[in-house]
Amino acid sequence: MSLSHSKTSKQATLAYVQVALPVPLHRMFAYSFDAKDIQIFQKGCRVVVPFGKKNLVGIITGTAHTTDYEVAKIKSVVELIDNEPIFSPSMITLAKWIADFYIYPLGEVYAGMLPVLLRKVSSETLKTTSVELPLLALLHANKVTKEDVIKLHKSKRQYGLFQALQAQPLLLKQAKSDFSPAIVKGLIDKAYAHIEQTVPEQGLWPTHIVLGEKKRANPEQAIAIASINQASEFTAFLLEGVTGSGKTEVYLQVIEEVLLQGNQVLILVPEIGLTPQTVRRFQQRFGDIVAVWHSALTDHERLLVWQQAKYNQIGIIIGTRSAVFLPLAKPGMIIVDEEHDESFKQQDTLRYHARDVAAYRAMQANISLVLGSATPSLESLHNALSHKFRHLTLKQRAGSASLPTQHLLDLTGVPLEAGIAPSMLVRIEQQLKQGNQVLVYVNRRGYAPALICKQCGHVESCIDCDNPFTVHLSTHNLQCHRCGQYQDYIHKCRKCHSGNITTQGTGTEQIQDMLAKRFADFSCVRIDSDSTRGKRKLNELLTAIGENKHQLLVGTQILSKGHHFPNVTLAIILNVDSFLFSSDFRAPEKLAQLVTQFSGRAGRANKPGEVWLQSYQVGHPLLQDLVNNGYEQFSRLLLQERNSANLPPLAWQVALRVEHSDRALIMSFMQYANQLLAQFSQLTFVGPFPAGVEKKQTRFRFITVAQGSSHKYVNKAMTQVKQALSQHKLAPKMRWSIDVMPTDFS
Ligand code: ADP
Ligand code: ZN
Ligand code: ZN
Repeated sequence: MSLSHSKTSKQATLAYVQVALPVPLHRMFAYSFDAKDIQIFQKGCRVVVPFGKKNLVGIITGTAHTTDYEVAKIKSVVELIDNEPIFSPSMITLAKWIADFYIYPLGEVYAGMLPVLLRKVSSETLKTTSVELPLLALLHANKVTKEDVIKLHKSKRQYGLFQALQAQPLLLKQAKSDFSPAIVKGLIDKAYAHIEQTVPEQGLWPTHIVLGEKKRANPEQAIAIASINQASEFTAFLLEGVTGSGKTEVYLQVIEEVLLQGNQVLILVPEIGLTPQTVRRFQQRFGDIVAVWHSALTDHERLLVWQQAKYNQIGIIIGTRSAVFLPLAKPGMIIVDEEHDESFKQQDTLRYHARDVAAYRAMQANISLVLGSATPSLESLHNALSHKFRHLTLKQRAGSASLPTQHLLDLTGVPLEAGIAPSMLVRIEQQLKQGNQVLVYVNRRGYAPALICKQCGHVESCIDCDNPFTVHLSTHNLQCHRCGQYQDYIHKCRKCHSGNITTQGTGTEQIQDMLAKRFADFSCVRIDSDSTRGKRKLNELLTAIGENKHQLLVGTQILSKGHHFPNVTLAIILNVDSFLFSSDFRAPEKLAQLVTQFSGRAGRANKPGEVWLQSYQVGHPLLQDLVNNGYEQFSRLLLQERNSANLPPLAWQVALRVEHSDRALIMSFMQYANQLLAQFSQLTFVGPFPAGVEKKQTRFRFITVAQGSSHKYVNKAMTQVKQALSQHKLAPKMRWSIDVMPTDFS
């Protein structure tokens, strides 16, 4: 929209707008505009304003006839973009809550909540992305003569579309996908149809719900479903159900109720869990009212989903972490599947946890939040056990499947072949011969995690990260897994030039190599981030596994997430020991989740499954506990330990992270931070200590963790600390951030 106060209106009375801009500063910015436009400068609308040498898109947070700033210095607004606020009042409240909770600039929060195309300044994008776009358009049939209709008859498909339109206008997008864009274009070109741009009050999706056949709920499922259905106001549920217990079936049945009331459902899933198989399950049950949101979408696709959600043109959105920011016209329920998954926490810029944002949104909209997992996070478990959440449990596997048995295998004195014990090779062979599939997990991709000179002990490392290179055979090079740098494979030690160099440790490639040779009659496939690069690769692999085209599956974490492999009867975890000696207090929780989720892949159909953990520490109490008692008991014990150690979720933590290439500068900055922290009597803190990844891309990385028992107190203190730190002369030189409730110290 062009504004009335351009060159000609220098004398106009000015009013002032407060704008939240996507810059790393905790403040608003004032701009002027013609006071007679004050009605249209609404809170939540986007404006283009000059900032430094460029223009930025910001969000209006308020207007006034006067300003506290020096009037002469105030620049005028370049352009008001929206007629209607792009952020509804509830999304405005949400943005403010996020900014306060995560101690992050409001302008950056707003920007992060919008699809990229809606925050670009270029005038062309603005035009195509202002909210009334052709994408929201309806296709209408034109009034035509009988002769015209006879002409149209010649093209069967165009006639089909025309008839459909006579019955009722169609969403342009719908028409394009049902009849093809060419047919739509043909009809418009011949003037049989036209597009009308509308922002429908009420979406069309409720008339498109398909109610597919549902499973008969078992008694545990029935209780869960009834409890969730009965909630008439904000209620958070923790659905703790063992792997394969039918949690998804519970979601499907409670979603049905929500949809039938005309309300929308947002389902958050881990990045890796968002497979076509998952989406298909929802589509088969409810038809074409499902939209998908994930990182591989193009900017345009994202914009489309954002609009469908906001204008109620879709009933179900299944998305990864950032889907939690999607505007919902008619929020009815939020589900977080695999709620313990680490991918829900963003580990850079705005370090939010999608589960926490989801909880706030559910409370705000007064709807239900369903958190589901076989291995609930201790945070959610704590909330459930202290009755903040309603606790629902599914202890049995659905249908006829039973849970696999877990065993420890003592590795002491055992010669290994590519990291695998001989007794395991025997078991693998037995299972393969019976026509079953076998899973092998190792937390290392590549061939080997190090290349070592036997002569002088030199370890070939990335200098920028002080990190051993991983040997990759498939690409025949050495790669740094921290920064991604790589170099050619070397055959001579760089230091002493000896040819006596060798790899150390095992990664997925080596195991695949060994198993493929040893079990040449079977197909062995590798599933890690190298082998699944590319949009469709992982799904192709999963489908092939489902069709039994591969019998041996070797992989990393990717393998442990939610997949349904009915034919797997044996699962082996190669090195669990690394988790036992970690300095991260969450390591035992992560280990237990990994082992339980990984085990959950085995024995999912009517064949019983077995899980083996190879370890040099079989007597370790944690391992014993986990294997003998299972996640349910293990997690409660961990929670008690956290309680007595005064650690989260019983305490509130905020971390300060600092990175710089000069360690001394980091120390000086962080010493100042410590002085600031020391002023808060109810805060304790540790640090600075080196992060798990101590150096990356030439920068050293350090962390200080502050903690207290009251969330309010800690947040308020850290807000002040951040403010004071930003004034420090080193602040602009450092890369530093505040991480509220950090989940990872690497
Ligand atoms: P989860 O989400 O807990 O891992 P799923 O919902 O995927 O479990 O269910 C595991 C398997 O059990 C699926 O094949 C599903 O179709 C089946 N299933 C779920 N509920 C029932 C039920 N009530 N009766 C029979 N089979 C069921
Ligand atoms: Zn050497
Ligand atoms: Zn590196």
